[in-house]
Amino acid sequence: MTQRTLTFDEAAGFFRRLFDYGPVMGPHERHRQQGSYHFGWLQGPEELVLDYTSTTLPPKKAFFPPRQMLFEFTLTDPPEFESKFDTAPFTLVGAHPCDLQALDQLDAAYGAEPAEACWSANRARARVIGVDCMPDHYCFCTSLATNEARGSCDLFLTSIERGYLVEVRTATGQEMLADCASEDPSADDVEDAKRWREEKAERVTASLDAPVDQLADILEADGLGEVWHEIAERCYSCGSCNTTCPNCFCFDVKDEFAIGLGSGTRVRTWDSCQLRDFAIVAGGHNFRRLRWERVRHRWQRKFLYLYRKFGTPYCTGCGRCSRACTADINMVDVSNQLINHAARKG
Ligand code: SF4
Ligand code: SF4
Repeated sequence: MTQRTLTFDEAAGFFRRLFDYGPVMGPHERHRQQGSYHFGWLQGPEELVLDYTSTTLPPKKAFFPPRQMLFEFTLTDPPEFESKFDTAPFTLVGAHPCDLQALDQLDAAYGAEPAEACWSANRARARVIGVDCMPDHYCFCTSLATNEARGSCDLFLTSIERGYLVEVRTATGQEMLADCASEDPSADDVEDAKRWREEKAERVTASLDAPVDQLADILEADGLGEVWHEIAERCYSCGSCNTTCPNCFCFDVKDEFAIGLGSGTRVRTWDSCQLRDFAIVAGGHNFRRLRWERVRHRWQRKFLYLYRKFGTPYCTGCGRCSRACTADINMVDVSNQLINHAARKG
């Protein structure tokens, strides 16, 4: 991996050039909501904000939109279908280390047989640029070792005194930089970036009370009913925790018919295991009718089932679910409640 420096002036030119390649998705401030950021398609480089703390929705939406039209159909004989997949190349810029890790984890989940075609097709047409961040009190990335994750991004930027230190991580990243002015990093640039990473790790205040790997055994042993019932008393089953999570990947697929019922569109939308109807199957049986069963499922899913299957927890410590929860159900607090409850039970 090589490193380059983009001074502020050079960075301005670099960000401008991104738009020559195709659409650019990046973090920007919500209209009339100062301090609230989201990933969206940018009109120009002036909209890009790289020193944000977190966004409401994660950048997975670039590859897996909350609502996506898959195809249009006409019920002629035989029926006709028209695919609606976007194929144009685009750039995702400004993804934080934890979110880059999540993208790679979704690669594994969607890539497992039977592979999910939309995700990999969208990943293949994108260039990804990451940027380092500073945590707020919801972030617990150091407990998940995602604070220095890079995933499979093409370039990774760290803020330094005179601009950005750029890690060139792929041949595509190399090509992106070849088109614009950049410099060999000085010893001070490298030292600046190192200081940033150290300060970031020091500023993370939320943490798990045990290594995250222990959660799988704790959840498998169960005996945690008291905790689940207490959390479920507060949970509204609104699903915000899932829909803001960079690692959640469940979706629903529906056919929406036009008036006249002769044609329509097939769409897929994000789904949430915390919604009451999520686990209803044919015949009307609901496998997780009770709220505590759904709450338990969220933790089992993230730290037990997917951990056992892929060898990594499906949580990156981004804190979005805790920020979004109006019932103040906090991922770190509940996980520590589980850890400490299990420790007391011996
Ligand atoms: S966001 Fe909070 S209240 Fe809503 S389902 Fe998740 S844990 Fe429950
Ligand atoms: S479970 Fe919560 S903290 Fe973990 S990755 Fe998802 S939103 Fe972030």
